Amino acid sequence: MKPYEFWFVVGSQFLYGQEVLDTVAARSAEMAAELSKLLPFPVVYKVTAKTNKEITETVREANYRPECAGIITWCHTFSPSKMWIDGLRDLQKPWCHLATQYNVEIPNEEIDMDFMNLNQAAHGDREHGFIGARLRKPRKVIAGHWQDARVHKRLSDWMRAAVGVAVSKDMKVMRFGDNMREVAVTEGDKVEAQIKLGWQVNTWAVGDLVKEMKAVTEAEIDALVAEYEAKYDVATDNTAAIRYQAKEEIAMKKMMDREGCRAFSNTFQDLYGMEQLPGLASQHLMSLGYGYGGEGDWKVSAMTAILKAMGSCGNGASGFMEDYTYHLVEGKEYSLGAHMLEVCPSLAADKPRIETHHLGIGMNEKDPARLVFEGKAGPGIVASLIDMGGRLRLIVQDIEAVKPILPMPKLPVARVMWRALPDLLTGVECWITAGGAHHTVLSYDVTADMLRDWARMMDIEFVHIGRDTTPEKLEEELLVKDLIWKLR
Ligand code: MN
Repeated sequence: MKPYEFWFVVGSQFLYGQEVLDTVAARSAEMAAELSKLLPFPVVYKVTAKTNKEITETVREANYRPECAGIITWCHTFSPSKMWIDGLRDLQKPWCHLATQYNVEIPNEEIDMDFMNLNQAAHGDREHGFIGARLRKPRKVIAGHWQDARVHKRLSDWMRAAVGVAVSKDMKVMRFGDNMREVAVTEGDKVEAQIKLGWQVNTWAVGDLVKEMKAVTEAEIDALVAEYEAKYDVATDNTAAIRYQAKEEIAMKKMMDREGCRAFSNTFQDLYGMEQLPGLASQHLMSLGYGYGGEGDWKVSAMTAILKAMGSCGNGASGFMEDYTYHLVEGKEYSLGAHMLEVCPSLAADKPRIETHHLGIGMNEKDPARLVFEGKAGPGIVASLIDMGGRLRLIVQDIEAVKPILPMPKLPVARVMWRALPDLLTGVECWITAGGAHHTVLSYDVTADMLRDWARMMDIEFVHIGRDTTPEKLEEELLVKDLIWKLR
């Protein structure tokens, strides 16, 4: 994970005299230092901006510096907004307007006109808000005292979304083979994805991977198998299958690292020269933060890598998922999610087991090793990015994951069980109405609000299905959004 930071840019003007400006600068530096201790990324106080030149220069530098993942602005005093126009127009980084003030209370005995002139954020932040609205600039507005834990939580979430923007703009996806034949939802406009989201999506031949696999040494395999044994329980005698998966992982990782790729896709329909579909290999790569999508699904692969990066410590509990089958018993309605092999162990409730089983689908000559486990219980989301033709739509649904209610002893793959909100059947109706894919990213630590922020910053359509969604309201929302996005 790159050492990202956020810049604190505080608005003021010369009207109040040097003493006030010195106080504003000292307090702003204090606030940045204090917030840095409480938020996942440092807040760097940059400037008390009093002129157009100071603002444009700070913005230019913010655009240019890769470690700057966004700017946080605030107006301690009144900062006339015409001097912000040029800077904000040129701003290419995520922007959060923190509408706060230094003091919590109005000091009854002390307050006079000097206090009012120094502490007039309620006034300055409205001028600042106007110019953001006038410029139609995407921004997050967070109001509250800077020492309030609720503000810290919301700032943290916004920061994670902004880091998701930085990771997206840096995203390179390595595709081994094409999409599964005839599948629609895994297709998409790669040029549009690069223009909007910054993703470089390109294909490498499976033969290139096979060549790379042949160059993997026994010592390299020994080292990775030792890592598997330390992390997982080995529940198979088929060591050849585990070693084969290690060889696949090492080869894929070398190719991705060489090209700067942090996500990949493959397809069971194109494994020429390989004995097994990568299972354990893909699962372990995901646990390291790489994105993955099955059947050539490069969109879900990149989204998996982005959601992982947005999560806790830059590699959160998020993974590639597929809706498989339902339990429709009244009052106990659940979705069962899995994949033919590739479920990320960051979703696991307990230590995963390495097992080998026959896989009938695809070109597998031998039984692939894979990690088998149950998913964690708790609130989460599933997210799906689809290409609507002319625009991208991100659909996010809130879910409540449970410990799988059945042991399913013959199921040879990792499994996650959840209930979509508002309830399983309404949730399914809404998801299908919105066109959400069978492939998703399931996350326990990225929220719908974070993805709403991310979608706003990436300038793509966002649809949220949650507790209060009804199919009727959703249908209207989709109709309106369709019109709006056609006009843009
Ligand atoms: Mn699939």
